[in-house]
Amino acid sequence: MKKITIAIDGFSSTGKSTLAKQLAKELGYVYVDTGAMYRAITYFAMQKQLIKTDFFDKKSLTEVLPKIQLEFKFNADLGFAEMYLNDENVEKQIRTIEVSNFVSKVAEVSEVRSKLVEQQKEMGKNKAIVMDGRDIGTVVFPDAELKIFMTASAETRAQRRFDELQQKGDDVSYEDVLKNVVERDYIDTHREDSPLVIADDAIEIDNSYLNKEEQFAAVLDLVNDVVKTN
Ligand code: C5P
Repeated sequence: MKKITIAIDGFSSTGKSTLAKQLAKELGYVYVDTGAMYRAITYFAMQKQLIKTDFFDKKSLTEVLPKIQLEFKFNADLGFAEMYLNDENVEKQIRTIEVSNFVSKVAEVSEVRSKLVEQQKEMGKNKAIVMDGRDIGTVVFPDAELKIFMTASAETRAQRRFDELQQKGDDVSYEDVLKNVVERDYIDTHREDSPLVIADDAIEIDNSYLNKEEQFAAVLDLVNDVVKTN
């Protein structure tokens, strides 16, 4: 079967990664969660005290960027790749609300974006990849054979993220999660460099009322159509 590139973009907590993982497993493709890369850089900046509430030393972050090494390593037990920052597994640390609160500010920095986009393009050069993020269909793989753009109401997304964080034992309130979702939407759609926009040739899926199985089946049909016609 012909190998293609699948780009999945959309707002935070729309279930992009769940869908991308399902597709990668079904098709035997590589899955790349680009949000994890922006989160890892944010975690690094927090560790080095370069970002705090009301303070962000962008210049120092830009200077140390060449020293930051990011790598995905596949964990066979979990069935997906985990994020390593300078050889340390940071998969858990990058999913906290604190990292979520700062990540969109870090993702606005052009030097950060160009470093990560270059690495992402390299990962996709042999196709057979499902990549999710905010600029995959527009900037990273503008020629992707299939582009999906996922949306859902902010409240639905906040509830999903809140449930996930609670399950992990994080002590957060629904209101704080909703505030974070709305703030990230705003920053992601208004930044100067590669704002979150829907690509002209993307297929939009609003999954507020779709369950995971229905959504997966619909997208798999799209993949089969694309593979047949390419
Ligand atoms: O997908 P996730 O919610 O983990 O992404 C975290 C943040 O990283 C997003 O809110 C966005 O600011 C940034 N991001 C981005 N471009 C991508 C992926 C993520 O700007 N391709």
